[in-house]
Amino acid sequence: MILTRKNIKNGDELSILGFGCMRFPTTKGGSIDEKRSIALMRDAVDKGINYFDTAYFYNNGRSESLLGEALQGGYRRKVKIATKLPPFMVGNLDAAKKIFKTQLSKLQTDYIDYYLLHMLSDKAGFDRMERIGIIKWMEELKRNGVINNIGFSFHGSRADFEELIKAYPWDFCQIQYNYLDENKQATKSGLQLAHSLGIPVIVMEPLRGGKLVNNLPAEVIKEFKSYAPDRSPAEWGLRWIWNHPEVTVILSGMSDEEQLAENVRIAQDAHAGSLTYKELEIFERVKAILQEKTKVPCTGCAYCMPCPAGVDIPGCFAAYNDKYLLADKRYRFKYLQTLGVMSKRPAFASQCIECGKCEQHCPQNIQIRQELKRVKKEFEPAGFKLVVSLARKFMRVK
Ligand code: SF4
Ligand code: SF4
Repeated sequence: MILTRKNIKNGDELSILGFGCMRFPTTKGGSIDEKRSIALMRDAVDKGINYFDTAYFYNNGRSESLLGEALQGGYRRKVKIATKLPPFMVGNLDAAKKIFKTQLSKLQTDYIDYYLLHMLSDKAGFDRMERIGIIKWMEELKRNGVINNIGFSFHGSRADFEELIKAYPWDFCQIQYNYLDENKQATKSGLQLAHSLGIPVIVMEPLRGGKLVNNLPAEVIKEFKSYAPDRSPAEWGLRWIWNHPEVTVILSGMSDEEQLAENVRIAQDAHAGSLTYKELEIFERVKAILQEKTKVPCTGCAYCMPCPAGVDIPGCFAAYNDKYLLADKRYRFKYLQTLGVMSKRPAFASQCIECGKCEQHCPQNIQIRQELKRVKKEFEPAGFKLVVSLARKFMRVK
């Protein structure tokens, strides 16, 4: 049976493997294979998964409906549903109420177990939600048992995460975390901070949308195989995350039966603290290989921070390195997202005023000013500022 971990805030016993409802099985033509998706979700429940994560706009709005259909016939009461309100689509309370009503109807339920503000990137985003009455309304829904837990999902900087997590007595939060992102976005210390505040953490992007399976350098694969020839990169990646006692659930967007079977098998014995000294050593070597292959040898230590001009120096280098290391085609979108297109404090490379203060503190002796110019050149092409300003307008960021 799949292991469970206790939600440290409310005592819910949650399966350590959660079903991420955004990468469903597809037909040969590329559209969602709905019949198979529903069967896969029911099979997941039968195998012990009791946490399902969806969102208002996943799969162009189809995700919630499919989950709702899958949970008919007695399945609803066996699981916790997590879904999300998209703040950038919410200009006032009525808009939020309308979206929520649609969500309940699509999910064919009259309550949501875990309700998140989707992709909050900083406290300013939370403040706006508070200002227009969304937080009060969510609290009222909670009092009436229509939602049971209030949380947020996060993509942004460590500093913004800290401000946001301390801004409200959250019931839970959702962050991106994996062995490549230990020092990125919320970071390991952010995970530990949430845990120390008594806030359960749900982990998303455990394998970076498959990139930590399909795009790994051959040397990394060799390193993994040297210890356990039959263990897949996916298993290594998941076990690394579950090794953290601060993690409650890992969300995996399982798109076929084989992935479900493999993840379920791993989730049956992936206890916190179960990685051996030797396995942890493998990860150290893997991280060293990945580090060596990076364009800028930034370790994410953040000794160079804060930057007086607001540049997220390690964040800029992380985006730059990922572009080359994982051949990530969505690198510009990721740069915009994590460097603060939705934050009150954007942190792009172009903000550098070349004061040089950071370079004195860098243990890697990185020519930070020089490297930031390269980042700017590759990530901020002509029209970048216009894209940022349109995106901020669309997302209602002031
Ligand atoms: S050189 Fe640029 S990145 Fe470094 S502290 Fe000064 S403004 Fe910030
Ligand atoms: S001090 Fe150097 S290594 Fe550390 S985060 Fe800053 S640039 Fe990266």
